[in-house]
Order: sequence, then C-alpha cells, then structure tokens
Amino acid sequence: MQTIDTLINARWVIPVEPDGLTLDHHSIAVHGGKIVEVLPTKDVAKKYHATETVDLKTHAVIPGLVNAHTHAAMSLFRGLADDLPLMDWLNNHIWPAEAKWVSPDFVRDGTELAIAEMLKSGTTCFSDMYFFPDVTARACHDAGMRACIGLIMIDFPSAWAQNADEYLHKGLKLHDELRNSELISTAFAPHAPYTVSDAPFEKIRMYADELDIPIHMHVHETAHEVDASVKQHGMRPLARLAKLGLLSPRLIAVHMTQLLPEEIKLLAQDNVSVVHCPESNLKLASGFCPVHALVKAGVNVALGTDGAASNNSLDMLEEMHIAALLAKGASGEATAVPAYTALRMATLNGAKALGIDNRTGSLAAGKAADIAAIDLSVISSQPVYEPVSQIVYATTRNQVSDVWVNGKHLLADYRLTGMDEAALRDKAIEWHDKIKAG
Ligand SMILES: [Zn+2]
Repeated sequence: MQTIDTLINARWVIPVEPDGLTLDHHSIAVHGGKIVEVLPTKDVAKKYHATETVDLKTHAVIPGLVNAHTHAAMSLFRGLADDLPLMDWLNNHIWPAEAKWVSPDFVRDGTELAIAEMLKSGTTCFSDMYFFPDVTARACHDAGMRACIGLIMIDFPSAWAQNADEYLHKGLKLHDELRNSELISTAFAPHAPYTVSDAPFEKIRMYADELDIPIHMHVHETAHEVDASVKQHGMRPLARLAKLGLLSPRLIAVHMTQLLPEEIKLLAQDNVSVVHCPESNLKLASGFCPVHALVKAGVNVALGTDGAASNNSLDMLEEMHIAALLAKGASGEATAVPAYTALRMATLNGAKALGIDNRTGSLAAGKAADIAAIDLSVISSQPVYEPVSQIVYATTRNQVSDVWVNGKHLLADYRLTGMDEAALRDKAIEWHDKIKAG
C-alpha cells in the first residue's frame, strides 16, 4: 500500500495521450505535485491510501487547458474598444490606453483577474506577452499558476523599457531569475514583425539558441500586415523571419491568417508551432487561419484566446468549440478538426509549442498534476454518448468544478481556494472607474 496526497476518482478520464482514448471509471493518483498513475477505480483500494480523495462521479477529467497566447493583464481593458479592425483598434484605442495606464499595479491586478478567470474555466497554463513580465511572473507564482512568461520586445518605448537594449537586458535578467522555477518558464516575445526591426531580431535569435527558449510572436495576423511588409521590406513577414534565421521549432507563430501553400510546407519542414486564436481573428475580422491544411501538413497547432480586449473572454472551452466549427466552415470539410483534435490543440499541442510537453499537457505518469474536471451531469450536456464531443460542442465553463495545478487544488467544487473573488471584482471596478474618467 502506497500513501499518496490525492486520489481523483472520475466517471471519465481523458488522458489526451494516447490520442483518442476515453477511460471509463478511472482514477488519478497524485503525489508530490505529480501524476503517479492513471488506473481503473476498482483497482485503487488495494494499491493506494490517499490523504485526500475527490469523487467526481459525473465528471470528465482532462489535462488542464493550455492557453498558448494571451495578454493576461489586458483583462482590465475588456470591452474598452470593440467592433473595430486591428490597426484602428491598436493605434487609436489600445496603444494610447496602454501608454496612459500600464504600470506594475495595472499588470498585477489585471493578471490576477485573468488567472482567476482562467482557473475557473479549466486553464492551468498560459503563455503571456506583456509589459512588466516580472510582475506577471510574480502573480503566477503567488497564485500557483503555470505560465510561460514572454520577454517582451517592441520598437517603441513603454513604461517597462525605453529601447531594444533595455527590453533585452530586462528580459534576460528575468529569465535568469526564473530559470529554476517549476511553474514558470520564459520565451522571448517580440511583438510582431511590423513592430520589431532586424537588429533586435538577430539578438533574440542568438540568445534563444543559447538559452534554449521559444520565441513567441504575432505573425501574419492580417492581410494588411503582409502587404505593408512587402512594401517596406520587399518580402512577406514569414520570408523576412526565414531570412533572419527565425524559422525553427523554437518559433511560436501566433494567428497566421495569411498563408500560401508553400508557406505551410515551410512551417511543417521547420517544425514551427502555430497558435490559432479563432475568436480574436473573428472579432477583429483578421482572416481565417487554415488550420485544417496546417494539421494535414503535420504542423503543431495550439490554441490561444489572445487578450481579453480582443476576444473578450479567456475561455479555452469556448475557443475549442469555435476552432472546431471554424475549421469546418473555412475548409468546407465537416471532418476538419474533430473533437479529439480540438482537445489536443488546447492541451498537449500548447505544451509542445511552449517546450514544456515533458511537464504538462496530458495525463501521464511522471507529468505534473495539471488537471481540470468538468461536470457533464447538467441538462445541457445530456445524454453523454461521447464525453470529448460533449466537452467541445456542448459544455460551458460554468461546468468546470475542480482544477489542480502542480497537484494543488486551486479550484475546489467551483471555488477558488487561493484567491479572493470579491476583492478581485472590487479592484476591476476601481480600474474601470479610473480608466473611464480618463
Ligand atoms: Zn495577441
């Protein structure tokens, strides 16, 4: 008999690895923050004695969702400027608001609000790109949230840094501080090809190779971006990145709504990961990422919500739903992105893009206990023929009952165990009042 910290008994366990598998009446043994074993519930009593047992009799248990692209602190700008195209939205609304309001306090409060929202919707890890990444990292550490913190780089000055050298220096210092963290990893996060010049890109490529970390960037978000690059550089952004030596398994290319067939081949050949953000692309009318063609070509496609100012939620269940539907509509093939593929994109593929699939992204022995439980007993999820199909097509985040990150029970029976929801709400209202008053 082995004594363990936690035993989770579930109606269904969907490990994601191996692909397409749903286990009936299975349990997950967790100890020291890690998954010890996934086994039939009937075999548990003779093997394990658990300090805490959680019975989830009507629930499907999945790997915690990985939000592979967001700007967490922007949750405080949710609904500030809607129904606008990307460049108008950025130039005339978001960038001026950021210039005025972004500070360590803003990032702290916005990130905490985002973490609470993500935990309550089954997300256990997010990949962030924003100013004051040190503050974001601290908020994740304090909340027990897993994250890949983007070391932001952008050609214009901000409250975080004045020029490329300062962005890089501060990023490298933060990477160094976080290098032994179990929960938090880092990636370079140059904003986009149209906001970062060649010289900082060259430095980022060199340091990313040396430190062995990913490069997380918006690429080919709109047709306008591609046209402007052809005018300015004589080539499409992806070609420019290729020339700079940036196409590699390290690159996490976010959006990719404009892709030629030969570019898809190139992404597959260089093992670039793509992060699809369907709701943000739809809302800003940015275009359609050819997900079906990318998956068929063998490209690792993950999912992200983007920031709450362009979505407007950080809800990965909804993102899976939209991604599965949009791939069918955009490709004209109803078989595009079936439910299991959507779930894999939202879990293991995200972890792979971030270079942490050895730690998280599936329910496998030895991986961190990053787990989400979804109650399928509600009327709107009945009857259950196929739990994964139900999760992707007929489930809302209000059905997420329990979440563990690194073995810590951060959402227990719908309640956040380490965060004060009323206080988070009060702070959001305070920021709203300040921002609205100008
Ligand atoms: Zn973004």
